[in-house]
Amino acid sequence: MCGIAGIASLEDISERLVGSIRNLEYRGYDSCGIALVNGSKAIRVSKNIGTVDEVGAKENFSKLKGSLGIAHARWATHGKVTKANAHPHTSCGKGFSITHNGIISNYTNIKAGLLKLGHKFSSETDTEVIVHLVEEYYKKLKSVEQAFVSALRDLDGSFAIALVTKHEPGRIYCARFESPLLIGLGDDANYIGSDFSAFIQHTKNAVFLEDGEYSIVTHDSHCIKRISTGETVSRPVQELKWDPEMAQKGGFPHYMLKEIYEQPQIVQNALDIDRKLILGFAKIALEKSRLYITGVGTTFYVAQLGQYYFSQYAGLTPMVISSDEFRFLAQVDKNCAVLALSQSGETYDTLTALRHAKSMKATTAAIVNVMGSSMARMVDHLILQQSGPEICVISTKAALSQMIILARVVLEVGVMNKRITLKQAKTFEKEIGQLPGAIEKILNEKSGFIHSIAKTHSKIRHWLFLGRGRYYPIARESALKMKEVAYVHAEGMPSGFLKHGTIALIDDRLNSVIFTPPEEEKQLYELTLSSAEEIKARGGYLLGITFKSRSKEPLPFTDQIVLPEAPPFIAPFLEMVVAQLLSYFTATTLKRNIDRPRSLAKSVTVA
Ligand code: GLU
Repeated sequence: MCGIAGIASLEDISERLVGSIRNLEYRGYDSCGIALVNGSKAIRVSKNIGTVDEVGAKENFSKLKGSLGIAHARWATHGKVTKANAHPHTSCGKGFSITHNGIISNYTNIKAGLLKLGHKFSSETDTEVIVHLVEEYYKKLKSVEQAFVSALRDLDGSFAIALVTKHEPGRIYCARFESPLLIGLGDDANYIGSDFSAFIQHTKNAVFLEDGEYSIVTHDSHCIKRISTGETVSRPVQELKWDPEMAQKGGFPHYMLKEIYEQPQIVQNALDIDRKLILGFAKIALEKSRLYITGVGTTFYVAQLGQYYFSQYAGLTPMVISSDEFRFLAQVDKNCAVLALSQSGETYDTLTALRHAKSMKATTAAIVNVMGSSMARMVDHLILQQSGPEICVISTKAALSQMIILARVVLEVGVMNKRITLKQAKTFEKEIGQLPGAIEKILNEKSGFIHSIAKTHSKIRHWLFLGRGRYYPIARESALKMKEVAYVHAEGMPSGFLKHGTIALIDDRLNSVIFTPPEEEKQLYELTLSSAEEIKARGGYLLGITFKSRSKEPLPFTDQIVLPEAPPFIAPFLEMVVAQLLSYFTATTLKRNIDRPRSLAKSVTVA
């Protein structure tokens, strides 16, 4: 993970650089640091453990000056969270400083060689070998560029690297291989960043580096070259579509809440995506003999929900594999289509799954939120979500958007597959169109009650989230939300599964939530209620998320959140919003770090 930022200018950029790394902090926040170059004098490095603001206060970031610099927000992979292990890392002679995102898999061998040559290491990280290696090559080659490239050629693993040197104080050297990096071109300065948020406040013009490329960035120029051959690559400048304001909290106490509240608009954006793109993917899904959907964490549950929709409404059951397991399970060949889901488009496990699919000649597709991301650029068929920046580490709006896009694909496939009529598809699409209003109603009318339930039960350390059919992936996703943001143990499972073991856990230390479909889905509704009875019979607390029903029968719930009537097609999405709020309010009651939960980072770009 980690965030990397850099700025090359002729004026003081220290404050801007601190701002850049603060914007990337969602990628890693155990420690951070910056390196500033001021002419050919020594490079000034300040780093420590903690968030950008904490480290800024400890290390007096506000006193620093420099016209060129690099910065880093770390998510440790090699070496504990200590000041010494925080980036940037500096060479023995203090001539080079480096920040790195990724893992250098052959670092132990490189380190052994460098130790023999007399290099002294001050951290436990894999990263530090790079800076000593550059220094070593520089001694021989007397050219920073040659030394940088030679060092890069020795590295195995994944990296986005930024290097500054007192030998060439006006240049940032950077490179990427399997970790994201892009260059921002401004009027008076040029930027680098792990993603656009490093510099979108200053420029929307960006150039994306590809794997195996490096760049030399100055205040008014940049070049791109291949690491392997040194040949120059020409790459067009792209204009980023997002506005800096979209990444502000806008009056909400947390990004998570803001993003939950953005969902009505996000659904609309997903509905506005050009039908041609949806149709394009639907065709691929049908033409190919096997369809895989892959994602990891929340996107795995999105994929699983997609699987149920495909099966029920399009007569097709795609294989859904968690992307970290993809290589070990999927049997992919040229007759397959592989659809990957990722908010950032950089998730390492999902990228690896896609690379595997590509190497086996499968047709690849992706639904991603970030334009220009690795996945966006590598797949045969791309659907960009248009969800705007999702800053909270916990995904809410991006996941819902992916679900809606998948539902649209399902409707197209359903019609082509003659599983549903065009008229039915149109009705379902209209129903999705009712979602923004229905979500808004839940947010406005149910938040208070959900908050009070969350408060009353905030001491409960174990939750079961239960659902059947399309509500089962919703249950799993909701359990994940509770774990991620509230640090409360939660399990999601099919409610029918309960009696096959887990029911033994029901007692007053465990709460259950059951996702109940509208009454119209009679079989599903009745089966769900019989699971609810099983919990009631054992005296367990059961929160029912349910829809207004016409029957007067009392329902077997301890508490219930009753939503206005909704068509079955869209009902699971609405219940998921309730569960998002339940996790959010549980987490705020427990005073958790909502937008940056411990040990997590937004875009998991390491194996
Ligand atoms: N491997 C480096 C470290 O542990 C970078 C970590 C990362 O990119 O997450 O410092």
